[in-house]
Amino acid sequence: SAIKEPKNEPLLSYAPGSPEKAALKKKLRELQQGEIEIPLIIGGKEVKTGMMGECIIPHKKNHVLARYHMAGEKEIRMAIEAAKNAQDEWEKMPWEHRASVFLKAAELLSGPWRSTLNGATMLGQSKTAHQAEIDSACELADFLRFNAYYLAQIIEEQPNSSQDSWNRLQYRPLEGFVFAITPFNFTAIGGNLPTAPALIGNTVLWKPASTAVYSNYFVMKLLQEAGLPDGVINFVPGSGSKLGNIVLTDENLAGIHFTGSTQVFGDIWRTVAENLRQYKAYPRIVGETGGKNFVFAHHSADVDALVTALIRGAYEYQGQKCSAASRAYVPQSIWPKVKERLLDEVSSIKVGDAENFTNFMSAVIDEKSLRNIDTYFTYTKASAEAEILHGGEVDDEEGFFVKPTVIVTTDPRFKTMEEEIFGPVLTIFVYPDNQFEKTIELCNETSPYGLTGAIFARDRKVISDLEKQLNHAASNFYINDKPTGAVVGQQPFGGSRASGTNDKAGSKLNLYRWINPRTIKENL
Ligand code: GLU
Repeated sequence: SAIKEPKNEPLLSYAPGSPEKAALKKKLRELQQGEIEIPLIIGGKEVKTGMMGECIIPHKKNHVLARYHMAGEKEIRMAIEAAKNAQDEWEKMPWEHRASVFLKAAELLSGPWRSTLNGATMLGQSKTAHQAEIDSACELADFLRFNAYYLAQIIEEQPNSSQDSWNRLQYRPLEGFVFAITPFNFTAIGGNLPTAPALIGNTVLWKPASTAVYSNYFVMKLLQEAGLPDGVINFVPGSGSKLGNIVLTDENLAGIHFTGSTQVFGDIWRTVAENLRQYKAYPRIVGETGGKNFVFAHHSADVDALVTALIRGAYEYQGQKCSAASRAYVPQSIWPKVKERLLDEVSSIKVGDAENFTNFMSAVIDEKSLRNIDTYFTYTKASAEAEILHGGEVDDEEGFFVKPTVIVTTDPRFKTMEEEIFGPVLTIFVYPDNQFEKTIELCNETSPYGLTGAIFARDRKVISDLEKQLNHAASNFYINDKPTGAVVGQQPFGGSRASGTNDKAGSKLNLYRWINPRTIKENL
């Protein structure tokens, strides 16, 4: 293919005394020095509306990092216009030139932009240095490089021709613009959702999550510095419902690239269905939504590996990955050992400022999230079917801190076994060893989601059976590993059932959704 297979961006360690640590610390100081003003970027121009939102540091809630302008109706229409105006030139540009913009952005990210994006993600979204590094440096660079590589492969996929006719597939973009709606929890998803369709030649309106405008703005600046032409991606933070009402009913809406809640995704489908007659073509709808991801242990499991997976899967980034481990099934025979190790580990977790390199956890994203998690604590404390073994407390004095929490329940359908909480809360159901089969059924049926799941066993027959029996329970399935941390190019990521359309981010499958192929037959 025209692009060499990329290597995953190497993870920097931020070890004491390392140059990357010094650079990041300097950047963190710089970013906290004064408040910045964030404009909309429409047709490559900065646009200000005076309708302001605030970007704060979740772990230091009184510290304002930035004030950002929010799009009103006029600006949304301007952005749609800008996307339309940019489309012709962008889509006719040879694909190599489009790809080179994103490859260049990845290079900048490996170099001078790395500390900016990591610093912004640590402050704006309360990620530790390691969590920022795997997200806004490595995963973002990987998305940019691997998507370009996959496109190069796709372009070469051509139909057969015969003696007297020559057949070609032309990989056109969709006719119209793509609406990218991105979440707070991964800066890399913020970068991937608008750039994947743009790579194919689509033009895009990008609405970042209000709680991630800060880092996402730097992603937009990075793309501009890498040479992204004006109007190809238009950065329009603002109220989701206000933007949605206008954008989702526009006749030129050709695609939606979404990561967020199951509920909002449902609202989007409904709006599209209600307006179906209006569009020039059926909009492509690609979404990744909620999860209630399981860890299922067999008595042959390696207890140490299991506990590590539970700790990392449930508490890294405060349990705010869509892929986070949130319900576990542990057999009675190994529970005493698991419990002892788990409580030992969880009680040594350090929670605090994200920019303090010794903390393992920091704050959850905002006040609303903290309050929501707290309602589950209140509910659990009042219930006879469950017990909080550790945590179950919030502290919003300085920032939005939630203690890493372990709940154990006697009811496999307890509320916290079923509902997505999006916080550092793990619920465990201890099952009698002789009810192994029944518990697999429970694991399968308890949640409407199908995002990630992990099994722990050493017995090969059991592993093979579980893989079959839990066929649809998780579309990212892990054997003897935590259910988080998918790597681009290695574990294409996405969920089915209520978790999304499963168009695997960072893979060819996702790119195909932004292509509107034309078959051309020519008689010779
Ligand atoms: N890809 C991430 C992981 O594997 C999760 C992405 C998400 O939270 O949407 O952990």
